[in-house]
Amino acid sequence: GIEVNEKKEELTNISLGIDLGLKELAICSDGKIFKNINKTKKVKKLEKRLKQKQRQISRKYEINKIKKEGGERCQFIKTKNIKKLENTTKLIYRKLANIRNNYIHQVTTSIVKTKPYRIVIEDLNVSGMMKNKHLSDSVKKQCFHKFRQYITYKSELNGIELVVADRFYPSSKTCNKCGFIKKDLKLKDRVYRCPHCGAVIDRDLNASLNLSMYKLA
Ligand SMILES: [Zn+2]
Repeated sequence: GIEVNEKKEELTNISLGIDLGLKELAICSDGKIFKNINKTKKVKKLEKRLKQKQRQISRKYEINKIKKEGGERCQFIKTKNIKKLENTTKLIYRKLANIRNNYIHQVTTSIVKTKPYRIVIEDLNVSGMMKNKHLSDSVKKQCFHKFRQYITYKSELNGIELVVADRFYPSSKTCNKCGFIKKDLKLKDRVYRCPHCGAVIDRDLNASLNLSMYKLA
């Protein structure tokens, strides 16, 4: 409709690529970096408190359990104290969820406000990442699904085209300068060094630049 067309006129001619990750939440092709909120003191402190409370709860259950007569099973009694602890745990949980949710809102709004005519994100294989025991917890806490959901509807509201790059598009392995594909790029290689043209660039920035140019003629 007319409204969307008007909004489109306000957009810049920038195609913005966004690389999502665990080290930082998002690296944009315009150089902007949005930190991983889970690495902040505030969140870490809450996580620590949560773990302490959970440990206390299981200890208290253990102390108060009653072995049923003749049976193998134990009966766990929920004391007042345990109830109180469980409520505290719930509150911390909610607080953490709110912090993460608000942060994703902040980041996606701030990205959309730069008014690119299109945004390109990766089709992250989140369920695949979740299978990795060492990563699954930090992947969950990054809320990638939410990020994609929010950036999608906010783009739509602002007349911005949202493109999800093909899952097999080698955004990290491709040299943004010359197009060479470095097949042996490792996850630990934080800097992309192109053996073909000699370019040296931050790995995630290189990926976001490739995403910004995704399928552009
Ligand atoms: Zn190169």
